[in-house]
Amino acid sequence: MATTASIKLLPEVAAFLSTSPLKGVVGGKDVASSTGETMKSIDPGSGEVLAEFHLLSPEDVDRAVSAAAHTFHKSSWAKLPPNERGAMLHRLADAVEKHKSIIAQIESLDAGKILSQAHGDVQNFVDTLRYFTNMSLHVQHRTVLAVSGHDAWTVRHPWGPCGFIFPWNFPFLLMGWGISPALAAGNTTVIKPAEDTPLSAIYLARLAREIGFPDGVINVVPGTGHSAGAALSGHSGLRRMSFTGSPEVGRLVGQACGANLTPVKLELGGKGAAVVFDDVDIAQTAQKLVGAITFHTGQVCCDATRWLIHTSIYQDFIDECKARMKEVQVGYQLDETSHMGPVVSAKQQKRVLSYLKKGQEQGAEMLIAGGEAEVRGRSGFYLKPALLAGSLDNVAAREEIFGPVAYVTTFSSEAEAIAMANDTDYGLANSVWSNDLSRASRVAESMVAGNSWINAHNVFAHGVPYAGVHKSGMGGGVLSIETLFDYWRNQSVVRPL
Ligand code: NAD
Repeated sequence: MATTASIKLLPEVAAFLSTSPLKGVVGGKDVASSTGETMKSIDPGSGEVLAEFHLLSPEDVDRAVSAAAHTFHKSSWAKLPPNERGAMLHRLADAVEKHKSIIAQIESLDAGKILSQAHGDVQNFVDTLRYFTNMSLHVQHRTVLAVSGHDAWTVRHPWGPCGFIFPWNFPFLLMGWGISPALAAGNTTVIKPAEDTPLSAIYLARLAREIGFPDGVINVVPGTGHSAGAALSGHSGLRRMSFTGSPEVGRLVGQACGANLTPVKLELGGKGAAVVFDDVDIAQTAQKLVGAITFHTGQVCCDATRWLIHTSIYQDFIDECKARMKEVQVGYQLDETSHMGPVVSAKQQKRVLSYLKKGQEQGAEMLIAGGEAEVRGRSGFYLKPALLAGSLDNVAAREEIFGPVAYVTTFSSEAEAIAMANDTDYGLANSVWSNDLSRASRVAESMVAGNSWINAHNVFAHGVPYAGVHKSGMGGGVLSIETLFDYWRNQSVVRPL
């Protein structure tokens, strides 16, 4: 059911969408919803239907967890030597890389993501899978302990079936961050993609099947949060759970996992600050921060949404931002000239507009007017980038908006800047901008969050842990060697001598 004649679909993408209504994948088989319910997947850039997909029910989720458990216990997957499992995972990484253009177009259409950025996300999936796979080959699985009077050692085992619930902003990339360490460690997975963006996860499960990846290792259960999501997070058959999304739902997932004593990782929202000192290159810093807030239309958990600017450069900085924001070309996500695509849904568009209104009602000044954007020939969910200014007690400065909206204010001393940056319940990521690197390092370490960046924002590298604290998350984070260790349970074995 490919939609518009105006969209030039790759033949493989058209073929994939023509299998609508798309089913989940459980135990290697396509599975329809037991209730028969389906939902439409919408292209946010045109508002048109891409395909329908099945909404799997709690019963279907139960089947998926059973399939993952069956594969874990009855197949050779969990017991394979790391190099043999690694060979299969590299084959999967190769297949994803080979199908990059197809997956990127699916992701771009489903999430409203600029096509070149979707390409980057798919490559990131491949790199993440290879990173954890390669690391798993070098980890010592048995460690002898030097304890007098005892013959003692520890041994690492995979946990079993692991559940994953993902949001809609980086569906494929985050799936890579989540499942790669779990798979490399020998676990099996059940994935619930967001209902706004289920397509790339379904494509991955089908691709895995096509290349002969073992059935039941990657199961995908598209569905709603309150039904499939709640069923997955509350399933007593899971041995680990990972959730990426809002703090509100994260709390529910944490409670459900707590009831079963299932270990859980929560990667949640943020309200990051950028602290800009008076010794920076103003034009370059303004350009980078405008780039950050407009990247994926501001739908980025770790974005710099509160810009704290030294009083002495404030006006020059704002003038630069105004010039840069005016250059941002809002447009359809598949058009090469577009810098910023739509937000993911009408609901998200409404949410952003409501924050612009509430922020101004509470006294914020709109320095650069946001609001709905017109894109010729497309009736999608477009917004203009916006810049608000005012005091930090404003709702638009305190709550996560998740759109192309930055909030700017001034500071005059280092201590004041740190206090302002830390005046939030969130703790995900902040940045500091200064040419004085000892000051930048000092401020970076003083900001209470999982991640501090210097003279850059949104920095990710395999091997650097990425995690939130407080309202932004718990459970160890992603992307580092520790993440791989999280997916093994550690057992001690002791014999008194
Ligand atoms: P959301 O919390 O509304 O939904 C996330 C997922 O949870 C979806 O798959 C949804 O179906 C599911 N869900 C909803 N209700 C559920 C329930 N009761 N039980 C179980 N699952 C349920 O978040 P969203 O709107 O999709 O994504 C935006 C949020 O995600 C923002 O807060 C953003 O900051 C956060 N995020 C965090 C990170 C990170 O790495 N820290 C990365 C990306 C996004």
